[in-house]
Amino acid sequence: MTCGGGEDGPAPWCHPRPPRPDSGSIGVCFRNTMGSERHAPWHLRTNVHMVFVVIFASDGGGAGMIYLDHNATTPVADEVLGAMLPWFQSDFGNASSAHIPGRRAAAAVEHAREQVASLIGAAPGEIVFTSGATEANNLALQGAWAVRPSTRDRVVVSAVEHKAVLEAAAELPGITDVTVVPVDRHGRIDLSALEKSLDDRVAIVSIIAANNEVGTLNPIADVTRLAKAVGAVVHTDATQWVGKQSLAVDDWNVDLLSLSAHKFYGPKGVGALFLRRGQRIVPSLYGGGQERGIRSGTLNVPGIVGLGAAAELAARRLANDEAPLKQMRDIFFLELESTIPGVSLNGHPTDRLCNTLNVRFEGVEGEAILASTPELAASTGSACESASPTPSHVLLAMGLGREAADECLRFSLGRDTTNAELHEAVRLLEATVARVRALTAVMGS
Ligand code: PMP
Repeated sequence: MTCGGGEDGPAPWCHPRPPRPDSGSIGVCFRNTMGSERHAPWHLRTNVHMVFVVIFASDGGGAGMIYLDHNATTPVADEVLGAMLPWFQSDFGNASSAHIPGRRAAAAVEHAREQVASLIGAAPGEIVFTSGATEANNLALQGAWAVRPSTRDRVVVSAVEHKAVLEAAAELPGITDVTVVPVDRHGRIDLSALEKSLDDRVAIVSIIAANNEVGTLNPIADVTRLAKAVGAVVHTDATQWVGKQSLAVDDWNVDLLSLSAHKFYGPKGVGALFLRRGQRIVPSLYGGGQERGIRSGTLNVPGIVGLGAAAELAARRLANDEAPLKQMRDIFFLELESTIPGVSLNGHPTDRLCNTLNVRFEGVEGEAILASTPELAASTGSACESASPTPSHVLLAMGLGREAADECLRFSLGRDTTNAELHEAVRLLEATVARVRALTAVMGS
């Protein structure tokens, strides 16, 4: 995860990551074993016992980079870019304008609405375009909270939600009870704990569909069954699920669902909220009354067209992409496991996003691995990629200790990932892990 718009979005304790040191420079990764938390630049973390001196061979940028961070974002697909381009210049009309260019833009937006709806089994009228999943999550929670019956004053979430749900829930006006339901060691919602947490005071239940860090899939239909039994509104953050695996909102029976284009080869800064027909919410933005008054603001026509094109592309490719990705992911893990001692898997062994692999490298900080393997783009499981020493709330909720949680990396494969890249990644990781472990041993002796 990254700071400021990255995997977990900006948070007060996230400091922007400084530029990588120049090629050939020396970075020093420190590990604090005294339990005190000190904020320092990522490559100069305060150390008490161990110092990892990492020689950067190159900055690894550009050509040759092995990109295994598709849960953070994906490249825009050619077809998507092609669909978007005219809407920047030749067809630049405002979709709210009554003239012909405006009506053309409005028609393109409605086509995109159909494409998005079709991907998730919704009706076009149930799609509200937003600036992404952060906004969709906020709109869902704030909007449903504002119309709750006065007798309902509680919200229930899981311990592994994205911050865009956790913090949005904590900030709901007048909220006094956000119940955080635990997950099991695989990161999956504990359904019996969920059931126990529910009563007729619960206004909203919001449970993530697929976790962004470890990829574990939640049984959303079961969540909905339990939540609806007490009359709660159900929201799911399906940002990581949509476009990677198939889903139908009616199978899940959710009232609200968030998605984001840039997780499935669409552009950044555009997403949608599925708002089931009949479900009321109040708008979070007021103004020109776009999106049926639920989300005012001039529509981002190129972005929305891109989201629609990405949705159509995903719908076409989903069935074919899933099995090979899963196979590559599993072979990658087997190769890591057989090459590097002290490697273990985080997340559900089978019920996991087809592209996601979160791995612990015992005794080696994930940040140290990333810093000394600049040819590889992956991410740590921690809540912030920068200097924050805060370990991942997801891994902690799954029962890992703070130190173990710092020793994890998330690899997320994409449609263009090759076996050769994964093989090379294993080779790089093997060398880095061995080097850092050797240095750790020297420092400790
Ligand atoms: N929820 C989840 C599970 C995510 O992975 C992300 C993206 N990091 C978001 C919400 C926020 O999405 P966006 O970048 O579209 O605001």
